[in-house]
Amino acid sequence: MFAPGLTLIAMLLPAASAFAQTGQEVVVQRAGSQKPSVGAAQNFTGSVRVDGPFKGTAPARVSGGTVTFEPGARTAWHTHPLGQILIVMAGAGLVQHWGGAIQDIHQGDVVWIPPGVKHWHGATPTTGMTHVAISEALDGKTVDWLEHVTDEQYRR
Ligand code: MN
Repeated sequence: MFAPGLTLIAMLLPAASAFAQTGQEVVVQRAGSQKPSVGAAQNFTGSVRVDGPFKGTAPARVSGGTVTFEPGARTAWHTHPLGQILIVMAGAGLVQHWGGAIQDIHQGDVVWIPPGVKHWHGATPTTGMTHVAISEALDGKTVDWLEHVTDEQYRR
């Protein structure tokens, strides 16, 4: 016997059971719920703030945060074992890989840093810049810090 009601239930069942199987809930990390951190002087030049740091729960290995660079501020040279994605949210910034030209980045630009590529990113000398930074950990590590970007390297 044809039963439209049962057909509807059968259609909805896979989604409902998938939810029940994981036993997990969506987590909303509220803006401002975590104290911003300041970029350590040994890894950054100038004033750098990290807001809303995030980290997936294992087996996910993604993590990141929203990083704000005041004018003139930048990371030290560094590499990421599994690469990094930068999404520029505001302002005007710069990014460079070792041996390459300094590139301008602006709001909406998406930057891919390949694994192991030595690079830096930051604000322009006159304009601040905010980007979201996302990377995956390899053996628990997302970054290997190197030497500072000198004023000579930063100046174009
Ligand atoms: Mn990076």
